[in-house]
Amino acid sequence: MKISVIGTGYVGLVSGICFAEMGNDVICVDNNQEKLEKLRDGKVPIYEPGLEVLFERNIREKRVDFTDDLKYAVENSDVVFLCLPTPQGEDGSADLKYVLNVATDIGSIIKENNDYKIIVNKSTVPVGTAQKVRQNVLDNGGSSFDVASNPEFLREGFAVADFMKPDRIVIGADNDMALDKLEELYEPFVRQGNPIIRMNTESSEVTKYAANSYLAMRITYMNELANFCEKVGADVDLVRKGMGSDTRIGKRFLFSGIGYGGSCFPKDVNALIKTSQEFNSEMSLLSLVDKVNKDQKLVLVTKIRKYFGDDLSNMTFGIWGLAFKPNTDDMREAPSIYIIKELQNLGAKIKAFDPEARDTAKFYLDGSIEYSDNLYSAIQNVDALLILTEWNEFRNPDFNRLKLDMKNNIIFDGRNIFDVSKMKEEGFEYFSIGRKAVKNSK
Ligand code: NAD
Repeated sequence: MKISVIGTGYVGLVSGICFAEMGNDVICVDNNQEKLEKLRDGKVPIYEPGLEVLFERNIREKRVDFTDDLKYAVENSDVVFLCLPTPQGEDGSADLKYVLNVATDIGSIIKENNDYKIIVNKSTVPVGTAQKVRQNVLDNGGSSFDVASNPEFLREGFAVADFMKPDRIVIGADNDMALDKLEELYEPFVRQGNPIIRMNTESSEVTKYAANSYLAMRITYMNELANFCEKVGADVDLVRKGMGSDTRIGKRFLFSGIGYGGSCFPKDVNALIKTSQEFNSEMSLLSLVDKVNKDQKLVLVTKIRKYFGDDLSNMTFGIWGLAFKPNTDDMREAPSIYIIKELQNLGAKIKAFDPEARDTAKFYLDGSIEYSDNLYSAIQNVDALLILTEWNEFRNPDFNRLKLDMKNNIIFDGRNIFDVSKMKEEGFEYFSIGRKAVKNSK
């Protein structure tokens, strides 16, 4: 099939390359010249495990092309995927300007050439957006087209694996021809029998927000529960195991920590709150999820203030992990940004190490922190270590080296990566989430 993907970010690039991997001809469009230059140079501009191999193979096989020419892309494809940003607007709603502006441009392009196109929205958009896209295309002269909704459920860090073997594909359209064509395109990705679920565009658009908000709510529930466990002497990790073994609940997405971040959950929860208000059917539960999550991002700072007091000038904290989660370089809404800024407000200096997010972190934190090259340079002479992302390489450090190189043997672990009793044995003061603190017995 001839496909174009408009917007070559985390979703667009992965989708484009994976479609190409299945033998389709793909044109990826982006208006960011720096990104395009990298892509044309054969470099993957994001960190996503497994992407590079597929990227190189499909470039070699000439199945994928990168351009800023929307007209060329639309004219040379049957299916046009919109993978454009839908960031949070000032009032909390999803900002649709990228999607609707491109829809307007597509209208003018297909007006000149009447070949039938399917315009597929893969961006996460509020219910009713497919109709708005349709209207924009029509208003600008397009006539032979359908608009479909095909929300994307991939996780950063596992994006290629998720795209190649999705739990399910959701496609929404009001026309069987469009649904059939998309089903044909996705058939190779669900050969093991995972479902392609067909529905109307409204249901499809709601499904994406429903899934993300539910997951955000689940994490938030566990975070509030963790705070409660700490107060009553319970261990949230044991409670999690006890709960998660119940098949009605399941084991995944029950880990407590320092709040969800990333490019999706925070903005998607807020967008659903906003849409529900607009339709006079407010989902008030989600407003609480958002509030509790914002508070949770700062629980480690509260623990640090309790330990060191409110004046942290002359103190330096080492940080392991800046990305909002492991296996990505994405820093959007990462708890680390909030924690670092708060510690800096209290006068602290920061040294940080992240295996992949150093460059993206500079966009949010610029030169305000010292960037370390490895685990151990980030802890030289620090007053305490904070663990903010659970990268695997942090799980088994050389504790003796830590004890030698840190000023104090104190760890604030926002991801519960170490065993509490092991930390006690090793002689660290150790503060984690929802578990008993190990305090100095001297
Ligand atoms: P992104 O910011 O990584 O990528 C968007 C790309 O679109 C950028 O490369 C940008 O330069 C490009 N762009 C902007 N305007 C353009 C234009 N007019 N023409 C061509 N290119 C243009 O965003 P993303 O993370 O890939 O997310 C895209 C959408 O998918 C969002 O709606 C997001 O909510 C949704 N989504 C994201 C994820 C995820 O994990 N990142 C998962 C599922 C769904």
